[in-house]
Amino acid sequence: MTELQDAWADLLRRRPAFRDSLTIYGEILDAWARWSPPRPLALPLDRARWRGAWERGEPLVEHAAATLRPSDVEDLLGAAMESLARAQPTLGASLQRLAEAWDRGAVAPAALLPARGRVGSGAVEQASGLAADVVAFLAGASLRPALEAMFAPAREHLDEAAWSLGVCPFCGGPPAFADVIEDGRRRLACHLCGGAWLFAKLRCPFCGVEGAEHQVRLTPEEAREEGYLVAACRSCRAYMKEVDRRARWNAGPALIEDWGTPHFDLVAHRQGYWRPTPSIVQLG
Ligand SMILES: [Zn+2]
Ligand SMILES: [Zn+2]
Repeated sequence: MTELQDAWADLLRRRPAFRDSLTIYGEILDAWARWSPPRPLALPLDRARWRGAWERGEPLVEHAAATLRPSDVEDLLGAAMESLARAQPTLGASLQRLAEAWDRGAVAPAALLPARGRVGSGAVEQASGLAADVVAFLAGASLRPALEAMFAPAREHLDEAAWSLGVCPFCGGPPAFADVIEDGRRRLACHLCGGAWLFAKLRCPFCGVEGAEHQVRLTPEEAREEGYLVAACRSCRAYMKEVDRRARWNAGPALIEDWGTPHFDLVAHRQGYWRPTPSIVQLG
């Protein structure tokens, strides 16, 4: 079992009520565990280039767009599409169109990568008729092992002071979860590549507005749990879930905590807030 599979099994023990509605996440993690890169994907070491990109406020996604081949990710994407078709049968026909477009080369991995302000280039939606949030879900369910391998050499070279933007410094993806770490700072997590970076506490990563007056903290009555909350922005109405690790020392990795707290997503959703990478319970 991988670390993520272990953490997911642990989460389902803590929250057994979600076992049935969240089956797809266990399947995704199993597919990731079965996967091995068809060729070495790691970025060639080039600290000067990475630092230069970060100084200009550019993530390293261009490299992924230029080098990822369909064969690098198609096992992952295929498995994610099959799981999604099982979880949401109404998406079957659109997923079939995507599979056909992929096979004839009309859609390539770059179409799923983060672009400015969104996940994917829009080509997947065009070829398949899938909604943008479904495409974002698919990207999240399929790209991570490949992008994690690709950006692994760059992780340790990210200087905390070098990056202050609200997107992942590696793949350019939107933050998907926030951790308040031991020293009280806020660390954002990218599910698309497994990246993480420190971010200002009172700034919205999605629209950049600054100040406590723009933030809403939802700790809904029916889902109140020490250490967990929804941090939303009054200005752009985006939200992110957050766990305070000082109160929750046994919390799992950000991805697992995010996937395992769909009840918070439903509360945020009902109040009219949105997130760039939706939970499975928000699709369909
Ligand atoms: Zn990322
Ligand atoms: Zn905002």
